[in-house]
Amino acid sequence: MPLPQRMPLSMSLTYFAIYLAAAAAFATPSLRAESFDTGAEALVLTLAKETIAMRSVRGPGNQSADVANRFRQALVEGGWPAQEIEVIPFEETAYFIATWPGLDRNAGAIIISAHLDVVDADPADWTRDPFTPVVEDGYLFGRGASDTKFDASLALVATLRLRQTGYQPSRDIVIAYSGDEETTMATSKVIAERFRNAHLVLNVDGASGTLDETTGEPLYWSWQGAEKSYIDYRLEVTNPGGHSSAPREDNAIAQLSGALSRIAAHRFEPELNDITLAYFQQAANLEKDPHKAAAMRAFAANPKDPEALRVLRSDPYLIGRTATTCVPTMIEGGHAPNALPQRASAVVNCRVFPGRSFEEVQAELAVVANEPALTITDMSGDETTQAPASPYNPAFVGAFKRALYGAWGEMPIIPMQASGASDSMWYRALGVPSYGASSTFMKESDDFSHGLNERVPINNIRPGLAYYQALLQDLTSP
Ligand SMILES: [Zn+2]
Repeated sequence: MPLPQRMPLSMSLTYFAIYLAAAAAFATPSLRAESFDTGAEALVLTLAKETIAMRSVRGPGNQSADVANRFRQALVEGGWPAQEIEVIPFEETAYFIATWPGLDRNAGAIIISAHLDVVDADPADWTRDPFTPVVEDGYLFGRGASDTKFDASLALVATLRLRQTGYQPSRDIVIAYSGDEETTMATSKVIAERFRNAHLVLNVDGASGTLDETTGEPLYWSWQGAEKSYIDYRLEVTNPGGHSSAPREDNAIAQLSGALSRIAAHRFEPELNDITLAYFQQAANLEKDPHKAAAMRAFAANPKDPEALRVLRSDPYLIGRTATTCVPTMIEGGHAPNALPQRASAVVNCRVFPGRSFEEVQAELAVVANEPALTITDMSGDETTQAPASPYNPAFVGAFKRALYGAWGEMPIIPMQASGASDSMWYRALGVPSYGASSTFMKESDDFSHGLNERVPINNIRPGLAYYQALLQDLTSP
């Protein structure tokens, strides 16, 4: 791995801490830099850079298939049999499946999940061109750096390296990368259906480690075991209209406004699942604000606790972890300053708690809106689905922990429920447990996924390779 020209001091210290921890763990003074897998480290960076340069964005010129072919080439050059790698064209995109057959082909596979595509980026908004990868100050910059070409490259190279050692997994290990996760998720759905009998999904596009803003030391790591489902509803009121000098009792704008105000003020039933229960219990120990920490503990003990709810609901980062949330996000109505509106409509975006159906959320909105003239329609079609939380499985959690501690050292681990959706949604909907399990650490101030100047610290490569190899071995040892 070419080291960055100017590595921030804090990162050098992190390296040093890892080196000391590793040296202590092996209890041997002979641990040398040469024992690190520098070839694999260089390959990760090469793949991440080359694939960032491929504009795998929905629409004309989508290069998702090129990304898949680059990954295929890397595996084949590393000795992975070509017939075990598929690059499958799908409409304007493609998806990627590489299979490593296990000793028992009928035991469910371990799926390593990521995606080839990225969210579009307007070069005019970026300091650097989003599709020209740049390594500077210890970071790799470019669209897809953190979401998710770096992690996809890292997990792929780690798996290749493990296979090159001659290791025999007890069950199949499958690298399955979708081609439209950021948009329609059609390939995500196809892949999940193909692997509906899988044992477990490790989604490298999920979970993260957090580094201290000042010291750069690891603070804690979160894995992700649940996601809220995303859905948009269109709310509409229509009236016959007329001249504004002759007002009628009904008014589409006023009727819609009343309904939206009631919806905005509404709070859905608070609830907990395995993952959010563990989150509140463990996050309470790290929370610096004593009121918030007390509220987290009280909510974990009783999700109906009124004081806990008051505190958690007043925090925009926490309210979504307590329940389904719905908010008006767009509005449109009327056609002339001097005419009664014939139509007023709005979009209400909901983040649905795992296990709740879209139909029940829609029915609740209708009751809360309490406006007979209002129609509510589901706008999301096939691009979303409802999915339960994955179980808090101690065997999986133990494997994550051992692999992470081996790579980064001991630290608090917090399970998370994400408020957005990833490919995990399609697996969970079919009953396959899926966990966001990336070991990539960054400062909160470095997180620009989907945003401008997206970047990832490249000192994640070395521990990341160690983490994925240990995790895969742990989950597939005979
Ligand atoms: Zn992503």
